[in-house]
Amino acid sequence: MIKKLLNVPNTQAEDYDIEGIIDYIDDDFIENLKKDKFCKKPLMICSGGTSSRCAAKEHITIDFRKNYTEIDYIDFKKEVVIEPGTRMQDLGKFLKSKNRSFPTGLSGLTGFGYILTGGISPTSRKYGLAIDNILEINGIWGGGEKFNIIKPDQNSSKLEKKQWKGLCGAAPFLAIVTQVKLKTYELNSIYIWEASISSNQLAEIIEKAELWPDNASFNWIWSDYIKGLAIIEVSNKEELEYMKIIVKELPKTSDLKISKINGLSTFKGMELPISNNQVISRYYSEVLGLLSNSLKGHSYVLVQMIEEEIRNRPNKFCYIAAQQLGGSTINNAENLTSFIHRESAWKPWINGSWEPNNKRERDQAIIWMENVWEKLEPYCPGIHLAQLHNHLPWHAKEINCAFKNWLPELRQIKSTFDPKEILPPL
Ligand SMILES: Cc1cc2nc3c(=O)[nH]c(=O)nc-3n(C[C@H](O)[C@H](O)[C@H](O)COP(=O)(O)OP(=O)(O)OC[C@H]3O[C@@H](n4cnc5c(N)ncnc54)[C@H](O)[C@@H]3O)c2cc1C
Repeated sequence: MIKKLLNVPNTQAEDYDIEGIIDYIDDDFIENLKKDKFCKKPLMICSGGTSSRCAAKEHITIDFRKNYTEIDYIDFKKEVVIEPGTRMQDLGKFLKSKNRSFPTGLSGLTGFGYILTGGISPTSRKYGLAIDNILEINGIWGGGEKFNIIKPDQNSSKLEKKQWKGLCGAAPFLAIVTQVKLKTYELNSIYIWEASISSNQLAEIIEKAELWPDNASFNWIWSDYIKGLAIIEVSNKEELEYMKIIVKELPKTSDLKISKINGLSTFKGMELPISNNQVISRYYSEVLGLLSNSLKGHSYVLVQMIEEEIRNRPNKFCYIAAQQLGGSTINNAENLTSFIHRESAWKPWINGSWEPNNKRERDQAIIWMENVWEKLEPYCPGIHLAQLHNHLPWHAKEINCAFKNWLPELRQIKSTFDPKEILPPL
């Protein structure tokens, strides 16, 4: 084991004085899991290293980024097998060379955590969540037992179905995932409409977007002002014509930009809309992912609420944003995953930021996040648990809102397969 700091995109995780790094999974490691030899629990796992919980003070991190980056393409099935050091941009670029794609998210830097915690892509309305596209999972339960599980069908046992459901959406609590096999899709052009919009325009577009076809999604981010992005995949002439209709009905603002990319692998993400291009090079942050049902008829009220919360935010780097769900994320739900809020139409998320080691700013940001959650909760009853927060005051509430009635069974799976709580608590 190497003792050092972890060099990761998440600055907070990077600054922790950690116990050490394990970057190779061998028989000794598995023996140590079985014999419960790790004195400081939980073990942390780093794949993309974009969340604040890929490391923790004085804890060991399993870092997959150096030795587990293999990507294999199964040509005749058009499936891909990836190891947990693979970032989504690496997967996207690799698949592009095969004329294929995968529903990756708004950032190419994310790793396995993106896939295992659900994976909401701008193309999810057409292709489903990332977890809906997993075909096979290999890994090691927290208790040290290796597993290989294939996506269940009608012949699968009850136990296999439960294990699969736990792993797809709640894997970080249960297992160290060492490989997944994924479906892939034809690579298509993606048109991006991007503009600064007013709060009224935002509410109006939210209502309209709920009626868009599944190949289109609306995303927005709000800090000093609001940036909206319509992301539309076009695979044929009909969709091209419909894309033009969608774009025609969107506001024509002075900074309006329409661009076209070939698949999501070159998508640049959503930039934080702040005036004067003020940038701080390093800041810490936490993210709370909410889930709302259709906002039809409620969008103006919700946007007004958000406007007030944005006014109250403790600093410019705190923001609220959202991605659109619906289409395949609702219709293809086979009750096979731990992402139970399948009726959700939007994922608004709250980002709290603060200067490193500024406790006052941190406390303000955390309190602001909790307040915003409380205000939005009547419209956003669900949680997308894309980040682990066992170090934050709302962990228990967040877990409850994420898994609801499924939580008792999930806890049973945890107590069977990670009985010594080697992985984060549930
Ligand atoms: C800029 C940005 C944009 C984002 N956009 C989206 C988006 O569009 N859609 C979306 O759904 N999410 C999005 N996210 C959220 C992101 O997907 C989650 O935070 C995810 O958990 C990050 O995974 P990671 O591997 O990059 O990070 P890490 O910090 O390395 O891992 C995150 C968590 O996943 C667990 N984990 C990682 N690898 C494994 C493994 N092999 N086995 C078991 N557990 C593991 C770890 O325990 C860790 O707690 C975004 C995040 C960022 C920073």
